[in-house]
Amino acid sequence: MEKRELQIFRKYLERRGLKLTHERQALFDELFGRHEHVEADELHMRLRAKHKKISRATIYRTLELMVDAGIVGRLRIGESGYRYERLRAGDHHDHLICDQCGRVIEFFEEKIEQLQDEVAARHGFVLLSHTHQMRGICRSCRPRRKSREGPEEEESSGTGVVPFTSRPRG
Ligand SMILES: [Zn+2]
Ligand SMILES: [Zn+2]
Repeated sequence: MEKRELQIFRKYLERRGLKLTHERQALFDELFGRHEHVEADELHMRLRAKHKKISRATIYRTLELMVDAGIVGRLRIGESGYRYERLRAGDHHDHLICDQCGRVIEFFEEKIEQLQDEVAARHGFVLLSHTHQMRGICRSCRPRRKSREGPEEEESSGTGVVPFTSRPRG
């Protein structure tokens, strides 16, 4: 049985006159073996550890093809680059990304999904996909406030740590 995403990828390649080479297949298997958010170099290292002959350039090129084919998602992580994740047909989630440690937290928020649909509809826009990425500082990287002066709740809700919000801009 062939995975649905592999079929999509194969067809995508065919339309471009490309083949599902051993290298591309190996990368697909590595990325689709589990759900994670992983850097291209990490994938490269793992494949080399498995004695798969694949160049760094091929990894990057193939990942771009997979992103374009819609079977792989790409997340921008701080200044350090990108991470990739497999996408499953019918699955959807968005991300919170920590600027300090690069931690990726997945979430699904029905209200945000609905709002996005409404915005698209308002503009007569047929929504095919969206990516919603919120950058900030995760719980473990957040500076801890000393609680000598009492519980945090009693401190003013200042702007020291900006909570994740999704307010429309401009
Ligand atoms: Zn963090
Ligand atoms: Zn994810």
